[in-house]
Amino acid sequence: MLIFNYGHKISSVAHVDKIVSCEIPDENKYPYLYYVIFKHNMHSSCRDLNQKNACMEANKCCKNKYPKDYCNTTIFGDNSYPLYKHRDNGISIKVRGQMLDNRWVVPYNPYLSAKFDCHINVEVCSSIKTVKNLYKYVYKEHNRINFSVDANEREKEIDEISAYQSVRWISPPEPMWRIFSFNLAEIYLTVYSLQLYIENHHQV
Ligand SMILES: [Zn+2]
Repeated sequence: MLIFNYGHKISSVAHVDKIVSCEIPDENKYPYLYYVIFKHNMHSSCRDLNQKNACMEANKCCKNKYPKDYCNTTIFGDNSYPLYKHRDNGISIKVRGQMLDNRWVVPYNPYLSAKFDCHINVEVCSSIKTVKNLYKYVYKEHNRINFSVDANEREKEIDEISAYQSVRWISPPEPMWRIFSFNLAEIYLTVYSLQLYIENHHQV
């Protein structure tokens, strides 16, 4: 995840369009990018085209919500990713035997896709709800779980103190991060010293 510095925050749809693209590239203008997107960033045909695709939930709908609706301009979604521009321009591409149009393109950044030649899904997440959710995970406590291990539950008296243990579960990246003393967050409270005059006292 990239968090942009002040002055570079994504606040307009024009800025979103500069970073994220969601249409099949022009084959004549950008043949290499066209090939990369064809290879890596077209959602596998699902729904009516293939009911058995891995993304199908209960054989009814795609869990990734493909195919998307056509959209003439990028719109900021209501507590969701932006609805990226993918126009009905008649361009389609044959992927695994099915003709797929702009509605099946996984959002990408042209520079990153062309540079790394692999599947890179780029999304803009700048709504207030998204940011609150992300920072909640930075500041909240470690994950905990209560559990008991009993060979035969019926024969044992339930002693809450001995039966339950509060344990802390951490994955390898967290000890590594702490061992190397990396910052846990890079946000600091803004503190101003106020110039107050109190008789016979210095600045507070
Ligand atoms: Zn799908």
